[in-house]
Amino acid sequence: MDAARLAFLKSHRAHDARALLRRWQSAVRQAGWQHRPLAVLNGWPVMAVESPAARQSPGGLYLSAGVHGDEPAPAWALLEWFETHARRLRDCPVTIVPCFNPHGFAANTRTDYLGEDLNRQFHRIDHPLISPWRDWLGTRQFALGLCLHEDYDARGTYCYELSRRHAPHLGAQFLAASDPVIPRENRPRIEGRRAVDGVIRRSTPPRDLPGHAEAMTLHFHHAPHTLTFETPSEFCLHDRVQAHRLILEAAQREMNW
Ligand SMILES: [Zn+2]
Repeated sequence: MDAARLAFLKSHRAHDARALLRRWQSAVRQAGWQHRPLAVLNGWPVMAVESPAARQSPGGLYLSAGVHGDEPAPAWALLEWFETHARRLRDCPVTIVPCFNPHGFAANTRTDYLGEDLNRQFHRIDHPLISPWRDWLGTRQFALGLCLHEDYDARGTYCYELSRRHAPHLGAQFLAASDPVIPRENRPRIEGRRAVDGVIRRSTPPRDLPGHAEAMTLHFHHAPHTLTFETPSEFCLHDRVQAHRLILEAAQREMNW
């Protein structure tokens, strides 16, 4: 194992939600962006972060991580990406939920503090977190929405791409950026759905879920083009963080930022 990877793994506390949120607050302050709590749930603030340009300019990126608490790599990748690029992206419209489920993140559980799968609650207007999240987004529209996740039985990285029928395909292009770190899934069916080159592509959301995922609500109201990326959570944490970071940088390039 190379020295950089070993140092990362020795020092990393994957589920230290307080350290994650502290680093976010500090990074946001240093970059001159804004943050606010969407809600405080069971003692945990759920942060919302936006660039100075986020409210003035339509389009731009919506990014989120940490919906499932047992999927830590995307949240750390999003933080690393932010620490590296945010200062330069002040004039670009970027809206971020860094860790949707800090209670689950700290407890290493998929579910939230209510014992629910948050990613099946996004249709609910009475939900203590989804309701303020929807109020915060208001009528904002994004060019792209990226929801970052992990999957414990995946054998590579893959993505769900939800976009209008004739929209350009971006999922495979973004996965190409992370292939050198974690090659993508090449099975023709992933999670029971037809996949091509690691992409499960749809122009309408699936109807067989018991509630709405974040990507579905984004697609309906805020970002017609959403991409949900999944890294294999049994793989090395270092590589999973790097894979998500490379995907975020591919999205940044797509925006010409
Ligand atoms: Zn997930």
